[in-house]
Amino acid sequence: MSIDVLSIFPDYLAPLGLSLVGKAVADGVIALRVHDLRDWATDRHRTVDDTPYGGGAGMVMRPDVWGRALDDVLGGQDLTRTVLVVPTPAGVPFTQAVASELAHADRLVLACGRYEGIDQRFVDEAATRMTVRELSIGDYVLAGGEVAALVVVEAVARLLPGVLGNPESAATDSFGTASVGLVEHPQYTRPPDYRGHTVPPVLLSGHHAAVARWRRDESLRRTAQRRPELIEQLDPTELDAADRAV
Ligand code: SAM
Repeated sequence: MSIDVLSIFPDYLAPLGLSLVGKAVADGVIALRVHDLRDWATDRHRTVDDTPYGGGAGMVMRPDVWGRALDDVLGGQDLTRTVLVVPTPAGVPFTQAVASELAHADRLVLACGRYEGIDQRFVDEAATRMTVRELSIGDYVLAGGEVAALVVVEAVARLLPGVLGNPESAATDSFGTASVGLVEHPQYTRPPDYRGHTVPPVLLSGHHAAVARWRRDESLRRTAQRRPELIEQLDPTELDAADRAV
């Protein structure tokens, strides 16, 4: 997969060189490029923003600067399997399902806004040429889209073939295909006694079916306690009798 990130703070994206994503880049699974949006400004101050039409607080990022940057980054390629991701608190929620969809693209371009955001015409014009996803990483407002871009790239990267050491982890993680719509059960490792807190005995039993049942029950219980809205959304036909008893 090819990933381009555009930002006025390219250094903010430095963590993409670390850990799982950094390794995926080093291994050639991801071709990552980070661009400074100001390279497409035309004045000597390298301006990328202006005052909002209609008045009000703050500044808005100019569509012409963003448009030039996007055109150059895309480089006249076939856009069929390109997705422009525009992080914004006004976007649709970024979920594991959206991450899975994005993992099927050949190319992602992430446009990191700042100030009051990017002039909507940039997004609307791009949507006439390619798939555009305006995505929110949560109901709060960050100062810029860079952290959201890190979130999206990391969540997508771990779904790409060859990135996770054991691809089964993604399936059994919270919201994974093995536990659709549920958060994961709690995890335990050595020592068996930590400050008087012991490991649930079933996990030491060696009884695989009992372990699987316990994990499923804990997953359902945690989801019900912490994310009751997810329980409402479960498909009842996917619940067995033991699930319903939890
Ligand atoms: N005026 C915008 C609003 O109220 O919806 C907020 C703009 S915010 C200060 C600046 C930039 O941060 C946005 O353009 C976006 O790129 C990013 N951003 C802030 N919060 C975000 C969130 N929850 N999800 C995704 N991106 C976010």
